[in-house]
Amino acid sequence: MVFQKPGPARFCEAECYRIDPASKKVLCRSSIGTNLDGNGEFELDYDYLVIALGARPNTFNTPGVPEHCHFLKEIEDAQRIRRSVMSCFEKASLPNLSEEERKKNLHFVVIGGGPAGVEFAAELHDFIREDLSKLGSPNLPKRSSRDGIDVKTNFKVVRVADNAITMLNSASGEVNVPYGMAVWSTGIGTRQIILDFMKEIGQVNRRVLATDEWLRVLGCDNVYALGDCATITQRKVMEDISEIFKVADRENSGTLTVKEIKYVLDDIIERYPQVALYLKTKQLKDFLDLLVESEGDAAKEFIEIDIGRFKKALAQVDSQVKILPATAQVAAQEGQYLAKCFNRMKICEENPEGPLRIRGTGRHRFKPFRYRHLGQFAPLGGEQTAAQLPGDWISIGHSSQWLWYSVYASMTMNLPTS
Ligand SMILES: Cc1cc2nc3c(=O)[nH]c(=O)nc-3n(C[C@H](O)[C@H](O)[C@H](O)COP(=O)(O)OP(=O)(O)OC[C@H]3O[C@@H](n4cnc5c(N)ncnc54)[C@H](O)[C@@H]3O)c2cc1C
Repeated sequence: MVFQKPGPARFCEAECYRIDPASKKVLCRSSIGTNLDGNGEFELDYDYLVIALGARPNTFNTPGVPEHCHFLKEIEDAQRIRRSVMSCFEKASLPNLSEEERKKNLHFVVIGGGPAGVEFAAELHDFIREDLSKLGSPNLPKRSSRDGIDVKTNFKVVRVADNAITMLNSASGEVNVPYGMAVWSTGIGTRQIILDFMKEIGQVNRRVLATDEWLRVLGCDNVYALGDCATITQRKVMEDISEIFKVADRENSGTLTVKEIKYVLDDIIERYPQVALYLKTKQLKDFLDLLVESEGDAAKEFIEIDIGRFKKALAQVDSQVKILPATAQVAAQEGQYLAKCFNRMKICEENPEGPLRIRGTGRHRFKPFRYRHLGQFAPLGGEQTAAQLPGDWISIGHSSQWLWYSVYASMTMNLPTS
C-alpha cells in the first residue's frame, strides 16, 4: 500500500522480495503482470515504511511437511484443504477398496493442539458429522455424534511421507500413522525476507523483528513494524534505573522525597507498564506502597530514599514484562495505533503527548503502544465455544458460542466495515 500526502492511497498487488533501508526502497515483483522490462519487478521509494508481512508456518524443519501437509495460513491453503477433503471422500467411495484403505482415506490428522488446530479439528468434525452426513455419505465411520476425534499427547511428529505420519513417543517409540489428509498447525516462524532485513540492520541472534514500544524497528530510522512479523521489546526498568532516579531527583539531593516521586510517577508507569502490572500482582495500590514494602513499616509520607533503596524496591518489576501474542487482536490494535500516530505527527511534534524521556530531554512525541486484551474465543464444535474474557473469566458452552457469534457479527457488520 503506498500513501502520498496529499493524495489517495495506491495499492500494488505484488510480492516484496527485499527491503533496502540504506536507499529507502522496497523491491517488489508482480505475480500477475509484467512491466516494460518484462520481468514484473519494480522498486518503490519510501519516507516511512510500515512492515506488516505476517509470519510463515513453522515446520521445525520436519522432513516431508512442506510436501505432504496443509497449512492454515493463506486463503490458498483453505482452498487446497477444501479440495483435499473432497478428494479424500471421493477416493474413499471408490469401489473395490479395502476397509483399511477406506479408513486411511478418511483419516484426517491435525498436527498441533493450539487454538487454531483445535478449532480446525472441531470444525472439520462438525462439517463431516453434520453436513456431509446429510448427503448420506456411506463411508463415515459409525460413531456417536461427538466422538471421532482422537487426541494424542506427548507425541512428536518426526517425519511425514505420502502415506504415513511418523510420530515419536518416549514409551512406544516410533509409530506410523496412515492418513488421508494432514494439516500442520504448530505455530509460526519468521519469513525469509524479514530474516534478511534483520541481518541488514544488525538485528542478529533474534528470531523475530524487534521494535520499541512505539513500533519503530530497532536500528532503523523511519521504519515501523507490526503484527506477527514483529515483537515489541519493552525497555526494562533496571536498565534505566539510575536515569529514572536522576530525572526524579530534581533538586539533585541524592535522595527522593514523596513529592519528587509523585511528580514523575505517571510518566514512569506510562513508560514502563510492567510497574503497574507488578503492583497489580502484588495487590499494592500505588507506587508508594511498593517503596513502603521495601522499607519495612515506614509511613508513606516520610519516605525519602537513596538510589540503593530505589533499586531494591524496583528490583522485581521487570519480571512482569509481557510478550504480546501473535494474534489478529494485537495486529489490529497496533495498526490503529500507528495510523493515529501518523495522522497526528505534526500536532504531536509541537505538543508531545508521551511520557518524559528518561535518557534525553523533553517528552516522547507519542504515548507508547498499549495492548488492551478484549478476550479470546476458541470454537470447539458442536455449538460449543471456549471463551476467555477480560478479568480472566473463563467459560465453555453454548452461551459462549452465542457470545462468540454476537461479537463477530458486530465486528463484521458495523458502520466502518459496511
Ligand atoms: C488458523 C488461524 C486461526 C487464527 N485465529 C485467530 C483468532 O481467532 N483471533 C486472533 O486474534 N488471531 C487469530 N489468528 C492469528 C491471526 O491470524 C494473526 O495474528 C494475524 O493475521 C496477523 O496479522 P498480520 O497483519 O501481522 O499478518 P497476516 O494477517 O498474516 O498478513 C500478512 C499479509 O502480508 C502478505 N505478505 C506476506 N509476505 C509478503 C511479501 N513478501 N510481499 C507482499 N505481501 C506479503 C500476506 O499475503 C498477508 O496478506 C489465527 C491464525 C491462524 C493461522
